[in-house]
Amino acid sequence: MLDQLKQDFARLGHDFARPVKATPLAGSHVRHINWALVEQLGLRDHIKTPANLQLIASANCQGLAMKYSGHQFGVFNPQLGDGRGLLLGEWQDSSGELWDWHLKGAGQTPFSRFGDGRAVWRSSLREHFIGESLTALGIASTRSLCLASSQDSVMRETPEQAATVIRVAKSHIRFGSFEEFFYQRKYPQLQELADYCLHRYLPGAAPGDYQALLDMAVANTAKMIALWQSFGFNHGVMNTDNMSIIGETFDFGPYAFLDDYDPKFICNHSDHHGRYSFEQQPNIGLWNLNALAHALSTLMDQDQLRESLMAYQKQLANHYQESLNRRLGLDSVREADVALVQQWLQLLSEQKLDYNLSFRALASWLRDGAWPDQFETLASNDKAEQWLHSYQQRIKQQCPNESAHKMDSYNPLYLPRTHHLQAVIEASQNGNDGPMENLFQCIQQPFKRHQDDLGFDLSPTDSDKGLCLSCSS
Ligand code: AMP
Ligand code: MG
Repeated sequence: MLDQLKQDFARLGHDFARPVKATPLAGSHVRHINWALVEQLGLRDHIKTPANLQLIASANCQGLAMKYSGHQFGVFNPQLGDGRGLLLGEWQDSSGELWDWHLKGAGQTPFSRFGDGRAVWRSSLREHFIGESLTALGIASTRSLCLASSQDSVMRETPEQAATVIRVAKSHIRFGSFEEFFYQRKYPQLQELADYCLHRYLPGAAPGDYQALLDMAVANTAKMIALWQSFGFNHGVMNTDNMSIIGETFDFGPYAFLDDYDPKFICNHSDHHGRYSFEQQPNIGLWNLNALAHALSTLMDQDQLRESLMAYQKQLANHYQESLNRRLGLDSVREADVALVQQWLQLLSEQKLDYNLSFRALASWLRDGAWPDQFETLASNDKAEQWLHSYQQRIKQQCPNESAHKMDSYNPLYLPRTHHLQAVIEASQNGNDGPMENLFQCIQQPFKRHQDDLGFDLSPTDSDKGLCLSCSS
């Protein structure tokens, strides 16, 4: 399989990435394959059984450790780079598009610093799931082709099982890839990287049109973060080395979907000041784009940089409003809808209601005039009554059944929530991969009800809430 991959990024040479032989894992076993992705990439003839991926998943291969740096929690760290993953090459699909393959957990590289180069089962499984979920919601994301466990153990807070995923992405170029060359004053390499991105991601742009590149990063990042906010996704570690130049959700750690609607939610328990809390994500997106623009400042003048960055807020606000309107079943966006959405969110926050399920509940109410169990408080609340009255006035030209149907095709019933993932991880650690398969199918088609969904449509109980997610992975 590996000999079918192209080596496109590799031609950039030693300043960009180092060839590394992966360190094989003992007793590696491919436990889950993402067949939908296999189909989509046209890989069916190459991957018929797990055996076809086993050699790669067990780290019996070689690849490139990419060099980058970046701002971590607001502080520049010049010493980053792939410390535990290798770019294996690019798969070209039938339309000619290139897809990077990256083996995460491949062993040490020249950039590992003190790390062991491995990834653990728990976080690999979480990464395998989240790309599928975001993709199903229409949010740009890297994905995972397969998930493998091993018999090797690695030390984190306790000993854990080492694992690998094969990550598939349109790009592994980060904001931090540009920062690397800017802060090292390697300006020719910076330009070469920008030219590579223009050629690969914006083939229609004129050579040297670096503003087009920054515009793309701004537009795609604004859309990605608007949709995170709309669907209640908290990334948790928005360092600039975890921001993809093409605006794909990238490098997952302690991510979480909101349970109750709480804008101050922080999924990363190492983030003591809430820099990457849910409500901060749009601001941090702009902060990160500023860091990128600064790194591109040898290629563009100040006015161009400013002009590109100025587009961010409006694009983000527009995408957010459009998406929230769709979630509420509204076909178009009017000025007064901004307040309508804000008041709905206020209600959810005051009553501590489940964020994503609230939109399904609202659709049920439209359809049958009754609230599902968990949302009954909305029936006996003056503020809610007022809001529902305004909402009905707003939606009245539309047929309620049709609106409810549209809402159900945009509002997910199934998400890889922390408590579901925890249940799947625990079962898999006890040798039962059934729940893993079941949840994977649910989140790949999150809008329709699945029979035997093992309760994956349910909110967490009070004791399930606030599961502690550490940054260690
Ligand atoms: P992350 O938190 O996964 O974005 O990683 C931040 C940096 O630390 C990247 O340069 C990683 O390659 C590196 N890193 C994370 N975990 C390990 C590990 N177990 N071994 C070596 N490097 C690591
Ligand atoms: Mg990272």
